[in-house]
Amino acid sequence: MRTCKTCTLTEKFPSARFNAEGRCNYCLAHEAEDRRDDNASEYRIKFEKLISIHAGKGQYDVLAAFSGGKDSTYTLDLFRNHFRLKVLALTFDHGFVSPYAVGNIRTVTEALGVDHIMFRPDFHLVRDIFRASAARHFYAKKAIERSSTICLSCMNLARLIMIKTAQEKKIPFIGFGWSPGQAPVQSSVMKNSPYIINAMQRSLARLIDGSSAREIPACMNGPGQNSGSMPINVHPLAFMEYDERKIYDRIAGLGWQKPADTDANSTNCLMNAFANRVHIEQYGFHPYDFEISGLIRAGVMTRAEGLERLTRPENEEIIRHVKKRLGLTS
Ligand SMILES: [Zn+2]
Repeated sequence: MRTCKTCTLTEKFPSARFNAEGRCNYCLAHEAEDRRDDNASEYRIKFEKLISIHAGKGQYDVLAAFSGGKDSTYTLDLFRNHFRLKVLALTFDHGFVSPYAVGNIRTVTEALGVDHIMFRPDFHLVRDIFRASAARHFYAKKAIERSSTICLSCMNLARLIMIKTAQEKKIPFIGFGWSPGQAPVQSSVMKNSPYIINAMQRSLARLIDGSSAREIPACMNGPGQNSGSMPINVHPLAFMEYDERKIYDRIAGLGWQKPADTDANSTNCLMNAFANRVHIEQYGFHPYDFEISGLIRAGVMTRAEGLERLTRPENEEIIRHVKKRLGLTS
């Protein structure tokens, strides 16, 4: 199988094209682009301006999505200690949070001195969503290039819960720890809208019963598609320095420890190995290839490190555990 000479994208990746030297269109486009730094500072300044307008008005400034993984841990620290915001951390527990991550969540929130809530929706709802995501071709090509179908559904559910909570508590910002490979800087500071909320709700509702008619479960139903208070999403790792070694060093200082049970591409989620497996079987490419090739282009990791991460064998015991819990074994 042909693989790009400078990143890790393969010919199975739907929108990858290769030139005569065996380099992909994404690597060629990246070289032609302006340097990331120019773009990045523009978004950092935009966020700082918004902070000066919205912060300090209520009990909390930012509701931070906190999975306990390395990037969201580092992001929590940025909000608290770099941007000096009043932070409420929220963990969405989809039933597959690594026990190591649970330990990290406790340790880190305590070390940072932030309030924290764990939100755990009805597992039957979550299970139905994951099972449907694994079974059906449901998402657009652009979406499945960037994430496994299970992750996409999980993210929609998590984002809806974040919006609902931020609106209820009148928190102006919602923070995410997307890496620069996961989400572009252009979306790093963005206000939610009724249109976005409706699209996510409809997408999940179709997954759980095949039509959009089913009543939206309470956990996905915010108080205000129509209310004036639309929280602003921000993922600061797109415009702040992203150096994995420095991140691991910093969060180790907060007591964070690397889980021993997650796959190569996650530091909090036991579902991820199964989600990757399903995606590769259905589409022929690794759901993390887009992110990893982006991190290679950004100089965050080497091509050899990226290839190793994409080919490291999954933990079969964890995959069996996940399938059993989802009711997918006989
Ligand atoms: Zn490439």
